[in-house]
Amino acid sequence: MEILETLYEELVGFFGITQAWEILKSGNYEVLRTYEGITSFIIPIIPLLVFLELILGLAYKKPQTRVYKVNFLIYVFNRFVGRFIAIAVVTLCIGWFQPLALFQTSPTWYWFIYAYIIWEFGHFIYHYLGHKVRLFWCLHSTHHAPEDMNLSVTYAHFFLEAPYADTIRTTICILAGVQPEMLFVIMFIDGTYGAFIHVGENVMKKANFGFLGKYILTPSHHRVHHAKNPLYMDTNFCNLLNIWDRAFGTYQEEKEYEKIRYGITREMDSGNFMDVYFGEFVALGKDIWNAPGIKNKLMYVIMPPGWNHTGAHMTSKVVRSEYFNTQKAKDKAAA
Ligand SMILES: [Zn+2]
Ligand SMILES: [Zn+2]
Repeated sequence: MEILETLYEELVGFFGITQAWEILKSGNYEVLRTYEGITSFIIPIIPLLVFLELILGLAYKKPQTRVYKVNFLIYVFNRFVGRFIAIAVVTLCIGWFQPLALFQTSPTWYWFIYAYIIWEFGHFIYHYLGHKVRLFWCLHSTHHAPEDMNLSVTYAHFFLEAPYADTIRTTICILAGVQPEMLFVIMFIDGTYGAFIHVGENVMKKANFGFLGKYILTPSHHRVHHAKNPLYMDTNFCNLLNIWDRAFGTYQEEKEYEKIRYGITREMDSGNFMDVYFGEFVALGKDIWNAPGIKNKLMYVIMPPGWNHTGAHMTSKVVRSEYFNTQKAKDKAAA
């Protein structure tokens, strides 16, 4: 019976419906005017959508079960191992860096916009490094392993990635004078929207949001980010506002002539938890072991994925420039 109880609690916990259920039962809808009241109804949106997506997938007979299976395993693993580390890191960063802040903002709407732009900058930095530094790619690659897109991809993260991401994002925000209260509101919006952009084609086929897509990052942009096509590799690092991708030249729209192929370029088994979770660490370990000299070994840790001590690099920069050169040659031949 105890197992059933735990299972029930885990299920309710996964859907995040405890608070919302309490409100519905009490009939006290006044609380919906408070921050807690609103969030208690927003938190279950993503888990419920994941469930709906899975059902729709089954109905369309395209269940993508491999992806769901591994991502749920990761979700369970992370719940037990990495649950509190990220919270601890955020608290520590606030404590350490707030006294060093350049100035303090106040709770007004214009400082909120400022704070969001700063947060998005922190997100860009963390995410960019996650793709360009091999060690950080080991943490981030779990999220890019799935070869299909659906909301369960939201849960596919290596457990140390959130603490690493939050250290960078929180530190930048706090040093730039963002108030912790405002930071938590932004984290909540960012987390919910960041989950939503993984919505699968089964639920939302075309997801570029028309003219809105010029200003905000849409699921279509994020699908591009998850693609391994040379045209799409290492683009669209932002989460909700795409300003920093435009500023740093990493913005890329989805093109009709270039169909998205999800996943990473390494030979791997996306249905195998161990490979999805630890595969990149194993690959890095092998490269370090085989590299001659301490300098080369160190370079493997800090250089982008695809860097090679022989000079035969296969980084995304090399792959992309080869692709653009071939495209140019084709265009010339056609002209
Ligand atoms: Zn990424
Ligand atoms: Zn993603």
